[in-house]
Amino acid sequence: MTNYLHNYLSGQWQPETTVANILRDPVTGAELAQTGGRADGLEAGFDFARTHGAAALQAMSYGERAAMLAEIGKVLQANRDAYYEIALANSGTTQADSAVDIEGAAYTLNYYAKAGAAFGQARTLLDGAAVSLSKDQLFQSQHIITPVRGLALFINAFNFPAWGLWEKAAPALLSGVPVVIKPATVTAWLTQRMVADVVAAGILPAGALSIVCGSSAGLLDSLQLFDVLSFTGSADTAAQIRAHAAVVRHSVRTNIEADSLNSAILGEDAAPGTPAFDLYIKELVREMTTKSGQRCTAIRRALVPARYFDAVAEATAARLAQITVGNPRNADVRMGSLVSREQFDSVQQGIAALAGEARLIHDGRQQTLIDADPAVAACVAPTLLGIADAEQASLVHDHEVFGPVSTLLGYRDAPHAIALAHRGLGSLVTSVFSADEAWMAQAACALAGSHGRVHMVTPEVGKSQSGHGNVMPVSIHGGPGRAGGGEELGGMRGLGFYHRRSAIQASAATLEQLAATSAKWHY
Ligand code: NAP
Repeated sequence: MTNYLHNYLSGQWQPETTVANILRDPVTGAELAQTGGRADGLEAGFDFARTHGAAALQAMSYGERAAMLAEIGKVLQANRDAYYEIALANSGTTQADSAVDIEGAAYTLNYYAKAGAAFGQARTLLDGAAVSLSKDQLFQSQHIITPVRGLALFINAFNFPAWGLWEKAAPALLSGVPVVIKPATVTAWLTQRMVADVVAAGILPAGALSIVCGSSAGLLDSLQLFDVLSFTGSADTAAQIRAHAAVVRHSVRTNIEADSLNSAILGEDAAPGTPAFDLYIKELVREMTTKSGQRCTAIRRALVPARYFDAVAEATAARLAQITVGNPRNADVRMGSLVSREQFDSVQQGIAALAGEARLIHDGRQQTLIDADPAVAACVAPTLLGIADAEQASLVHDHEVFGPVSTLLGYRDAPHAIALAHRGLGSLVTSVFSADEAWMAQAACALAGSHGRVHMVTPEVGKSQSGHGNVMPVSIHGGPGRAGGGEELGGMRGLGFYHRRSAIQASAATLEQLAATSAKWHY
């Protein structure tokens, strides 16, 4: 029986059309599911979301919508075994790597369910306090934020089919904005199954959540004034999206999360044998191997004092040699596969390109796979490259290899390390490992200008720190420049994208009436 991934538009599952894409198990190559090509009924589906979906969502209070998110969380919890099976088959991930996506989704959803409940029965949010516009104080200005009048279209990348949906949908639905999700085709099954489970549970009003699997054709053409668009994926596609006629003509507010050459800096004080050094090596290996390095936040550039370069290379290579790679169904396997054979080819090409300027310190291409045919499976073992004098490097600051690949770069002194981090030209995250708190505080401010997140690890927080690559809902996710200039999450800041701000100029008495049905927008 074919597993055809139907679209859900206008509150209806759409009929099967000609098959245009086949989803495969990236380890065995087996066919798993199919999607159609260009979706039928896009314009009608988008209109239905903007009218029925938005009206029903916005008839509710923030508290009621938060309660819906909590109900969605329960549905995901009830079906989680199925999600792990899909992730194993379609993303080729081990249980631990699938958890990053699936549990991350549930955690983020529950965060917004709880945080949103604090807005209670409010239907409007006040941004700041009223300010007098007249000498007698009677005429005042109050900023309010109200949900955008259109829909939110999400075009997502292949690496987080679960979290990528809910980290965007939770703040959008809490805001009262209907969602249309277009998952990356190659791993669309998990997203589609989650949407199907939520639809079947009847939690959301019709039109609040729609899905388009397969081709992206026609999606952007269907956008209208007041819609918002959030894209996660490659810089090349991002550039096409920004320039799309409908996006330009209709002033569609756009959030872009794109490529990122994240760095991690080992402090000058963190000599081999110190706790900060050990924490750095552990983190670097974890970042290279979690989800086979297919995280937009993974460490691509490891910046270390030139005098510790050899020690870092040796310690990291020793740990990488312990990582078993292959079929995630085998309990001995620590790291599964990439999502597709296309990604395998792209990573192989990326390693070859970096090897043009960097030395291969630990070459994963030599490693034997467990229970996987190297001619078929999209498995790549972790590969560490290095350039002892970072001044000799250029491609490494420019080319993101989306797999278990990092490059060590030796820096001269702390200002040099910070300058090298900035050479990523805008990244999602950089981290610093050191015991020198005074220097770290300065470095944090110096690094902030080109990073969405600066993650500082001293030995004291070695156990409690949340992880370089983990995106926490209370902290913003997104980076300037090359990373796309987007900003998501960040607690209640994340609601800002789905609202618009208006200044209400009125009598103090009128504003008091308004305040009676409002809550203060807080971060
Ligand atoms: P991609 O090829 O750009 O695809 C991303 C999404 O865009 C997919 O859903 C794709 O659909 C769709 N798409 C492709 N062409 C389109 C077009 N012309 N119009 C509208 N939609 C279009 O990126 P990817 O290879 O899936 O993702 C890997 C990249 O994502 C990496 O570079 C990584 O850095 C980045 N990423 C960034 C973040 C972040 O948060 N910053 C997170 C994850 C990944 P199809 O799948 O159907 O082609």
